[in-house]
Amino acid sequence: MVAVNVRPEVLALPAYRFQPHLAVVKLDQNESPDDLPAGLRAAALDRLRRSEWHRYPALHADDLAAGLGARHGWAADGVVVAGGSNVLIQALVVLSGLGRRVLTLTPTFQLYGLQARLLGAELHEVALGPDHAFPAEAVAAALGHGEGVAFLPAPLAPTGNAVDPTALRRVAAAAGEGWTVVIDEAYGEFAGVDHGGLAAEHPRVVRLRTLSKAFGLAGARVGFALAHPELATELRKVVLPFSVSALQLAVAGAALDAPELVDERVRTIVAERERVATALRERGVRVVPSVTNFLLITVADPAATHRALLEYSVLVRRQDHLPGLTGALRVTIGRSDENDAFLRAWDALPQANGVRHG
Ligand code: PMP
Repeated sequence: MVAVNVRPEVLALPAYRFQPHLAVVKLDQNESPDDLPAGLRAAALDRLRRSEWHRYPALHADDLAAGLGARHGWAADGVVVAGGSNVLIQALVVLSGLGRRVLTLTPTFQLYGLQARLLGAELHEVALGPDHAFPAEAVAAALGHGEGVAFLPAPLAPTGNAVDPTALRRVAAAAGEGWTVVIDEAYGEFAGVDHGGLAAEHPRVVRLRTLSKAFGLAGARVGFALAHPELATELRKVVLPFSVSALQLAVAGAALDAPELVDERVRTIVAERERVATALRERGVRVVPSVTNFLLITVADPAATHRALLEYSVLVRRQDHLPGLTGALRVTIGRSDENDAFLRAWDALPQANGVRHG
């Protein structure tokens, strides 16, 4: 081993867990199954062609922030844009969690805890309740003292179930002045619920959104925070200047010009989600009720089921390493032909040694 000078927090940190596999039917990363239509791609390229590559882009993606704000009925000066919402998760730990606490749930999206460890914040994880329910009372109690930042995905991830808006109200009301409460709405479009009303009432509540899911722009890397303007001003100090490139601005700007496309795609994914969930339940599979673009299912032998599906070139994501998720696999909702391919592969799996059923 070469001796390297690295902070112990980094040395102790596991790398972000993601194992790429080749598969025709790719249902492992909660992406949109469809790219932007050719016309919008052309519009994005046209924007890129017209931009000045030798000049720095806008300091804080100001025009895009205004467009995103308009879409969400949020003041432009409360919108902070970055190269993916994961960048903002790190920035929010720096803003409010460094040297303090990071509070989140378990199981949950792995990045909250990874960033807390990386930046040396004290990590406090609250376990989900029975049936993966949002543990409102325990979160409210934890936010009653101390200071830091709380990351609460709503809908929940990776379980995909809904968070009752009243539970979030209870949590926001209980949060002391020392806390920034982040509601991560990465899958919010599929749930048809956002927490804008709550955030408007509570200046320390921040919503996180991404263009990686419903917008179908995971490759472009754009995410944003909707916050009280005063908090947004502070968050902009943490996000690196000029970090949203001309390419990101061009692609996101073109997609924002066609909001009806996103709405239509969300409707299709939601209908497909219900179809696949019903089909799996009819086959005796335990499926967590989902308001997202993915389903969490339980099987007896997740490693074997994952491997067997891959033999049919269907790729899903193992989640069985997470606490409380024994036997869990996560299946992204794809195009209807992809979902059919998944169900066909499922029906072809060996029944022996409990590969199929949980
Ligand atoms: N939050 C949640 C709950 C997620 O699942 C993801 C991505 N899987 C992100 C944030 C990060 O999204 P991005 O960086 O692509 O905006």
